[in-house]
Amino acid sequence: MSDHAEQPESPGKEGMMAGARHFATRAYFHLKPYIPRNVSRAVRRLALPGLLRRSKATWPIDESAACKPEGWQGWPDGKQFAFVLTHDVESNRGVDGVRKLVALEEARGFRSSFNFIPEGPYETPASLREWLEEKQFEVGVHDLYHDGHLYESREGFSRKAESINRYLKEWNASGFRSGFMLRRLEWLHELDIVYDTSTFDTDPFEPEPDGSHTIFPYHVAPPAGVAGDGYVELSYTLPQDSTLFVLMRKKSVDVWKRKLDWVAENGGLALVNIHPDYIDFSGEGIGSCCYPVEYIEDLLDYVMGEYKGMFWNPLARDLAVWFRDQSLETNSPRSGDRRVS
Ligand SMILES: [Zn+2]
Repeated sequence: MSDHAEQPESPGKEGMMAGARHFATRAYFHLKPYIPRNVSRAVRRLALPGLLRRSKATWPIDESAACKPEGWQGWPDGKQFAFVLTHDVESNRGVDGVRKLVALEEARGFRSSFNFIPEGPYETPASLREWLEEKQFEVGVHDLYHDGHLYESREGFSRKAESINRYLKEWNASGFRSGFMLRRLEWLHELDIVYDTSTFDTDPFEPEPDGSHTIFPYHVAPPAGVAGDGYVELSYTLPQDSTLFVLMRKKSVDVWKRKLDWVAENGGLALVNIHPDYIDFSGEGIGSCCYPVEYIEDLLDYVMGEYKGMFWNPLARDLAVWFRDQSLETNSPRSGDRRVS
């Protein structure tokens, strides 16, 4: 659901449904501040069985997403697939977990990106950003206020884009992800980014549930008359931790393993979004909002154990730059060009 500015005048059934979903999404985010979190979670859980039933054929695996983009040349050094770790930090609790998560990933030879909310519910310490950079991890920008209203109007977005660009520059960041995976890909040309990662191949549990239907990066070209080279879109392709362990209360990482195996088999990009906010690092069991850190260890150990030497683990930024450069070199139109609709 990237851009409904392009909707035809008579939208037809699909357009009307998308319009209704937009309305519902807006209404939800206006009411959200007044609804206690455990209540909204309980409501989402009530809807789960029906959603799972309806999405059986397309979640967690949407077979159509394995189709390789035209001109696809494969990953660098002949690697079978790419594995990219990203993290959205949602709260002070998440900020506190960053160093622990880095330690855990580093010990296993992985690097990752941490996306921080510039003007949200916490301060992002400059010292933490610098520490991540020194370690050659990545810092990205996650939304602006993280209130669900980023795309409410085009004018409002343009104003916010100025602030986001300021943070991108100050943080030396080149990646962006919207809060709640809301998206208007056509508007993101206003951002000074190399890549965006607000989409997913398949995730019917998000407020805007339309997927990109691909496990490969793709280029989002600017519309006619808009300056710039566009940007690279990286969809997350493993379900989010919050969906599996907080919403669905799963007690193992079997879904991650199954999806990872499938992405590896099809030579795609396995990209995951893990929130340090929901990880119980202490082992004390801090209630239903958190899951044991062992789940993360289990995933990373599985990737290393099953696929050592077979995958590429770049920072999201490095993958995007690689894709952009090789697309520029090899193809016109660029390989992987597509739009989400
Ligand atoms: Zn978020």
